[in-house]
Amino acid sequence: MKIAFIGLGNMGGGMAANLLKAGHGVRAFDLSEEALATAKANGCETFTSASRACQGVDAVVSMLPNGEVVKSVYTGDVIGEAPEGAVFLDCSTIDVATAREVAEVAEAAGYAMVDAPVSGGIAAAVAGTLTFMVGGSENAFSKAEPVLQDMGKAVIHAGQAGNGQAAKICNNMLLGTHMVGTCEAFILAQSLGLDPQLFYDISSVSSGQCWSMTSYCPLPGVGPKSPADNDYRGGFATGLMLKDLKLAMEAAQKAGVDTPMGSRTRELYEAFDSAGNGGRDFSAIIQTLKQG
Ligand code: NAD
Repeated sequence: MKIAFIGLGNMGGGMAANLLKAGHGVRAFDLSEEALATAKANGCETFTSASRACQGVDAVVSMLPNGEVVKSVYTGDVIGEAPEGAVFLDCSTIDVATAREVAEVAEAAGYAMVDAPVSGGIAAAVAGTLTFMVGGSENAFSKAEPVLQDMGKAVIHAGQAGNGQAAKICNNMLLGTHMVGTCEAFILAQSLGLDPQLFYDISSVSSGQCWSMTSYCPLPGVGPKSPADNDYRGGFATGLMLKDLKLAMEAAQKAGVDTPMGSRTRELYEAFDSAGNGGRDFSAIIQTLKQG
């Protein structure tokens, strides 16, 4: 297929490279010259605007920072420029309302569109092992699925437009919440005289077990290798966790839903981020909890 790729940063760069590996022709655009130079070196054809990159394509994939940028790129440069019938796949993490609004405008203009945010970080983007949670009509999903398969290990249809974003922010609200809970449990266990490894051995086979404990333990030297074993470098940055928690709280407010744990988790990550920890892995929040 001929695919336009817009936004070739940390995530998009690896994703576009996997589309090339799968045999697609990739037409790249990014505001950053550095990102474009890397894309060119990887084999993409590069363009000076999103509208030029979209000429004659079968699909447009985007991996952009936020909803405002996604809306302006699609409504300003893509819709009306890409051939009618093309499928649009926005893989960025953005708010549900904007995802639905842009999909509606695209479909009214004769395109199919899905929101397809990802689970998995930069390493998964490079390895082609992302999980995509996809919102959109059956028709849009069936057109988007083969393209997503070339960049990931799992592609799950979550229902109507915006539902991919809904799944992503609910999942990450839960992740942030159980990470903070796991950190608290380790600190309290230690303060009560319990060896952290022993607490891990007990809790990981008891009802407190969760992903933050058994797959991503926030304490170095306990459980499988995680960013804690690398001085909290790599992994999922605190700044990105905070972005997702803000999106979740915004959605909860709009929907009139109470999320007291999500709200407290957001406050904790906001404070951690403001203290200069935005680039550190989100499990490093354990270091701010009071030791007895
Ligand atoms: P990034 O900042 O590295 O990349 C974004 C790219 O978009 C940049 O290269 C930037 O120059 C480009 N860009 C910005 N505005 C543009 C415009 N108007 N036109 C064209 N290009 C434009 O960010 P990233 O880490 O690749 O994240 C991208 C998206 O993926 C975000 O929505 C993020 O929340 C989501 N995400 C990131 C991760 C991660 O681990 N980094 C994991 C899951 C989801």
